[in-house]
Amino acid sequence: LAKSISDAGWYQFIQMLEYKSKWYGRELIKVVPNHTSQDCSVCGWRNKELELKDRSWTCINGHTLERDLNAAINIRNKGVGHTPSAWEIYSDIGRVAQESHLL
Ligand SMILES: [Zn+2]
Repeated sequence: LAKSISDAGWYQFIQMLEYKSKWYGRELIKVVPNHTSQDCSVCGWRNKELELKDRSWTCINGHTLERDLNAAINIRNKGVGHTPSAWEIYSDIGRVAQESHLL
């Protein structure tokens, strides 16, 4: 899947993100995407059995995760270089939703 996505124009997508980031005065941070879907964003446990069809899953410590939201939180954490508080995550989500005119 990753290969087919890269063939479909990652370079152009990154170019657009860089342009828009500059336009809005934002910093674009690229992160290594390895295991961002498999790692629990709460405790860090890695689900090596996770398959693409699994849309939500529960880690061995009982954290129930929605696949894409979990991955998004892990990507964010890699970008900022630390594990943010719940307040930071929700204020980010709110800001993005407002800027995207979803709120
Ligand atoms: Zn967990």
